[in-house]
Amino acid sequence: MAEVKTVVVDGMALANDLRSRMTQEVAQLTASGRRAPCLAVVLVGDNPASASYIKGKRRACARLGMDSVEHTLAADATQADLLALVDKLNRDAGIDGILVQLPLPKQIDPSAIAAAIDADKDVDGVGPLNAGRLVLGLPGLFACTPLGIMEILALHKIPLEGANALVIGRSMIVGKPISLLLQQKNATVTMCHSRTRDLAGLCRSADILVAATGAARMVKRDWIKPGAAVIDVGVSEIDGKLVGDVDFENVMGVAGIVTPPKGGVGPMTITMLLHNTLRAYRLRTGA
Ligand code: NDP
Repeated sequence: MAEVKTVVVDGMALANDLRSRMTQEVAQLTASGRRAPCLAVVLVGDNPASASYIKGKRRACARLGMDSVEHTLAADATQADLLALVDKLNRDAGIDGILVQLPLPKQIDPSAIAAAIDADKDVDGVGPLNAGRLVLGLPGLFACTPLGIMEILALHKIPLEGANALVIGRSMIVGKPISLLLQQKNATVTMCHSRTRDLAGLCRSADILVAATGAARMVKRDWIKPGAAVIDVGVSEIDGKLVGDVDFENVMGVAGIVTPPKGGVGPMTITMLLHNTLRAYRLRTGA
């Protein structure tokens, strides 16, 4: 089999390009006397990883010229406390997007919170109304990681129509929405999960393979169809090193394009959060 020249996706460069365009858009809005878009981020408890994600999201907003506000509730906050905060943010005309950082403490049901966020401020695309809009093919605010993956595929000019796309993982934040988005672009989508039989065999016919499981390096070199677009969403740590669901080093020379464990899908996820916030702002304000 001839070696394929694998292109490693530079998610940071793609993200920077999109972000600089959004920076210009925000600058034009504020120059015309309008307020900047504003994202509200909510943290419950003191999980250091969550605090760091929130810091990264707020920093990304600031770099674009967008505003952000942070609300932190104590780790023992009740579901009613969080619902009351969400309600306040829903009614605040100066807030365009609401993001409640996951995971939430066990006394709070994340789906009840997702359902309470105003669908037009649901910039993480976690609520039932936006999930329904996606299924129905209607416009809405959709989950950021799948939107980022669609951008990566578009920017790398990966043909979607009629392509065999295989998604490993069926979560509401990655697997299900990316499957629907790919199907909307006329890919033939196979959605796999932990009970799928002969996953390796199915993967071998995939022109586009999206792995979103969290099972470190499970996708092996001999699972990849030569020239396939391989999008690795998974994040795991082995011996202090960030690794994905794909055996990254070993798919070189087989995959057509592949996203690296670091600097691949991650930067695009945050970028699409900014994109959704700007979109929510425009929809709400008519700007
Ligand atoms: P979930 O745990 O919600 O879902 C994982 C999915 O993978 C499930 O559908 C599960 O199947 C399936 N799965 C798990 N192990 C296997 C296996 N060995 N073989 C086949 N399928 C398997 O995870 P998320 O969707 O929230 O996230 C997936 C990964 O992506 C995580 O590592 C997460 O950290 C990462 N992530 C990265 C982001 C980024 O921006 N880079 C953003 C979001 C997530 P079943 O349904 O049968 O249990």
